[in-house]
Amino acid sequence: MENCIFCKIVNKEIASEILYEDDELIAFYDINPMAPVHILLVTKKHVANISDLSDDDHALACRVLFAAKELAKKFNLDESGFRLALNNNADGGQEVFHLHAHILGGKKLGKMC
Ligand code: 5GP
Ligand code: ZN
Repeated sequence: MENCIFCKIVNKEIASEILYEDDELIAFYDINPMAPVHILLVTKKHVANISDLSDDDHALACRVLFAAKELAKKFNLDESGFRLALNNNADGGQEVFHLHAHILGGKKLGKMC
């Protein structure tokens, strides 16, 4: 998708430190971290958000959970704990309209909102 910052990162048009990559997902650090560990887990396919998922995306959605599990382990967050957040549309606080999950950890996080 033209003018989508995450598509540009996925396509390596913008260089990022890649923390995880497979055929459907990529992960990199959030540019404006809200926690000691703040990773963005992004679908390679441009899907705007959860509401934009189609019936064909069941496996993709599932893979986000399992990749998050792997990343949490890799960053030693699995025992201490972490938050997986997917902001959706305006009231959900979504700013980048390309599906991504935030993995937040490394400290005791506050309440949700
Ligand atoms: P959202 O509010 O859409 O769920 O979160 C978008 C996130 O993307 C924000 O936390 C923001 O800091 C991050 N972000 C925006 N632009 C860039 C960028 O160019 N590179 C990286 N690494 N993160 C970005
Ligand atoms: Zn995109």
